[in-house]
Amino acid sequence: MLRTINHAPSLAGKRVLVRCDLNVPIRDGLITDQGRIAASLETIRYLIAQDAKVIIMSHLGRPEGVDEKYSLEPVAVTMSELLDQPVAFATDTIGAEALGVSKVLENGGVAMIENLRFSEAETSKDDAERLGFATKLAKLADNFVSDGFGVVHRKQASVSEIATLLPSYAGFLVQREVEVSQQLTDSPEKPFMVVLGGSKVSDKLGVIENLLPKIDRLAIGGGMVYTFLKAMGHDVASSLLETDQLENVKGYIASAKQLGVELILPTDVVVAQRFAADTEFEVAAVDSIAKTKFGESGIGLDIGPDSARAFASAVSSSKTVFWNGPMGVFEYANFSAGTKAIAQALTEVSGLSVVGGGDSAAAVRQLGFQDHQFSHISTGGGASLEYLEGKKLPGLEALND
Ligand code: ADP
Ligand code: MG
Repeated sequence: MLRTINHAPSLAGKRVLVRCDLNVPIRDGLITDQGRIAASLETIRYLIAQDAKVIIMSHLGRPEGVDEKYSLEPVAVTMSELLDQPVAFATDTIGAEALGVSKVLENGGVAMIENLRFSEAETSKDDAERLGFATKLAKLADNFVSDGFGVVHRKQASVSEIATLLPSYAGFLVQREVEVSQQLTDSPEKPFMVVLGGSKVSDKLGVIENLLPKIDRLAIGGGMVYTFLKAMGHDVASSLLETDQLENVKGYIASAKQLGVELILPTDVVVAQRFAADTEFEVAAVDSIAKTKFGESGIGLDIGPDSARAFASAVSSSKTVFWNGPMGVFEYANFSAGTKAIAQALTEVSGLSVVGGGDSAAAVRQLGFQDHQFSHISTGGGASLEYLEGKKLPGLEALND
């Protein structure tokens, strides 16, 4: 059983360190999407209302050491505006400033410490280094609340080690994600379908093997599908391809067959001349990707209309659907039809429909869908995939009784 904050003993006057996922996109010092900050407010407001002293921590991007470009300070400013109260900012994480701020906070007050990844110990592969960093973080607070679902599958100091050092609870975001993931894994209503796409090809190929025994249907689109098409003997021209995964993919195709999982691959794709919004394009059957007028330089950037129809009908006739990864380069209108068709079909599912992954979530919103049309839009693509695979997530282990 997950320990959640509403079951914590009184937090009034207690210093509570909250791990959020405030990894927002920043361009020229400006936050271009506040989504993750807004999503974190529920837990933070709850803690303020409990009269706790709230100390927020997060990572931002992948800095190597201290790098002003990745400072959380603009995030603290936005957080303060949204909360309509001051958010004290410490320019370090475990230094004098952070410690000082944590000591002078008043009940109901909020502070934020600097980007955790300015310290290499946060993500170190060395257990002792991570534990050392977490021990110093723990000095800032009396309790720990884990609310960054996007990172709970990571063995990182502020995610896993810290939870073993302080009385720890799941925040509302993590609680909701775990509830939905449990629904998906415990007794999914059948047929259970997983749709995978996107561009993090090797990350996502790896999960297929573990998912196959749990599902009835698997549809593949996006950038990862070209490794499948190649494995089946097709020439994929200049499409995204992970050559070193070809043998693995052949293995997945064989196990899908053996396990009786219906593997749904596109029969046609949209081939583009270049990777650009205004480029020329042509629909081609999967055995003719290299035979368009762009020849070997053609790039598959979306599933084709026949495939979109077939994928959509499999989705809408399933009872449980988990979708992670866009079917094409949805950021460009010419290559967004496949993703839109899947999103539409998901809204027609009569059972549980879950969208996972940062870009997939952005895609459904950008394509005009509303959050309430899906059972759940997850904030952590990688974390929910690992949960589905049946892996133990380091950040959740210490939160379970
Ligand atoms: P998520 O964040 O939902 O997990 P990913 O990060 O794996 O998804 O992938 C999202 C990206 O994949 C999008 O930016 C999209 O443009 C890109 N993408 C989708 N299809 C293709 C393709 N055929 N070729 C290259 N990139 C693609
Ligand atoms: Mg992504």
